[in-house]
Amino acid sequence: MSQFDIKAKAELLSQLENSVGKERFDNWFKKIEFISAGENAVHIPVPNSFYQDFAEREFRKPIEEAFGKVFGNAPEIVFKVTEMADIETDLRQAEPRLDPSTKTEAPAPPLASNAPRLNGEYTFENFVVGPSNRLAHAAAMRVSEKPGGVYNPLFLYGTVGLGKTHLLHAICHEIRKQSPHLRIAYISSENFVNEFVYSLKKGALESFRNKNRNVDVFVVDDIHFFADKEGSKEELFHTFNAIHGFRKQMIFSSDAAPKDIPNLEERLVSRFQMGFVAGIDTPTYETRLAILHSKAETRDIRIPDDVLHFIATSVRSNIRELEGAINKIVGISTLTARTIDIDLARDALADTIVTSTLPLTIQEIQRIVCKCHNVTVQELQAKGWSKRISASRQLCAYLARTFTNSSLKEIGEHLGGKDHATVMYYIAKIEGALLTDGRLRADLDALSDRIRKRLV
Ligand code: ADP
Ligand code: MG
Repeated sequence: MSQFDIKAKAELLSQLENSVGKERFDNWFKKIEFISAGENAVHIPVPNSFYQDFAEREFRKPIEEAFGKVFGNAPEIVFKVTEMADIETDLRQAEPRLDPSTKTEAPAPPLASNAPRLNGEYTFENFVVGPSNRLAHAAAMRVSEKPGGVYNPLFLYGTVGLGKTHLLHAICHEIRKQSPHLRIAYISSENFVNEFVYSLKKGALESFRNKNRNVDVFVVDDIHFFADKEGSKEELFHTFNAIHGFRKQMIFSSDAAPKDIPNLEERLVSRFQMGFVAGIDTPTYETRLAILHSKAETRDIRIPDDVLHFIATSVRSNIRELEGAINKIVGISTLTARTIDIDLARDALADTIVTSTLPLTIQEIQRIVCKCHNVTVQELQAKGWSKRISASRQLCAYLARTFTNSSLKEIGEHLGGKDHATVMYYIAKIEGALLTDGRLRADLDALSDRIRKRLV
């Protein structure tokens, strides 16, 4: 067997995608080949010694681990320099390929191609707009309608998983549609740095520069990656000046605003700020819910509303994790043939939720207590005094005091407008009962556990 069978390769690739992340995977592994060499060795062709070094440094470990997971043990991995398609011309095409699945082109060398591949799903149509990303989205639309106009450069920033790459791809798709004659170069910062270093070594700086500068739209994703790479920063600065002189559109993304990127010199900061800088924040509950609806719809999966609500309240930090949550739930449902319901969602997300660091709210605690005690939030807040309801009220007060920084007054407001003395009384009641009541202690432990895991 000189090649791996398709299934084994697919499993290896899926492991690699998990371990190195989607973007790096798309850049480096899409075209990788594994060639069996003897009993226990696998050769991976690379086009030159530069990529050989890079792969050794960055990818040996993830590849070995992927083999370990799929086959139980890792063979000897050899990155083998192999005569391949001309890397100089294949390194990057000026035009993005719109459909990443198109197979008609000559294959680019594995681990080498940073031919800009646009994700077909990262379009404006698939982008849900909310207060957290409205400005960035509007600016991106403007740029795609009028590249080289006033929003130049466009600088989008925000922490990971909030939609920067999605918007960058959407702009490129749109420009391709509206102005197909324009030449677009889309490059990740990692590839920019690698190509720069490579062309320095090969004495091919001139052709590297020509490639970057002979474009109408120059897009660089994740430029915080440059922070400690002096030579590349310098090169980017020169590219910037060269392109800007011709009123070409430049678009950058980063995990922080220009002035907050460590080690970024003033002159680059001010270059970036010359155009339009827009931040993307973490999405609100409503936006998260809208995104979940949209993702479910795009993939034609039916997910009940209470499950979507559960995901939107449990996963708050970023949109990539929201997608991950859907994938996990759908994956488990398919594997175990269980229908998607709230219990399945809780099981699927138990790990994710424990790690959530956002502060708990009184409402969440209320919901958990009510659910476990079969009481409604309305009953909790009304005047009823049945034993079950008053016990739940006391527990809510006690748990809200334990898990949140809310004042007694705030807690009272959530319990139907009780004053702070009443809330103090509730808490004292529980504290007193805990000394003697084993069942209450067990109940409280179970509730605390659910609250910590946010199993609303
Ligand atoms: P970043 O580049 O900021 O780390 P990405 O652009 O890779 O984030 O987004 C992560 C995932 O979330 C992608 O799959 C993207 O499609 C999705 N996503 C982000 N923002 C939105 C949005 N507003 N609407 C729909 N999907 C989004
Ligand atoms: Mg990104």
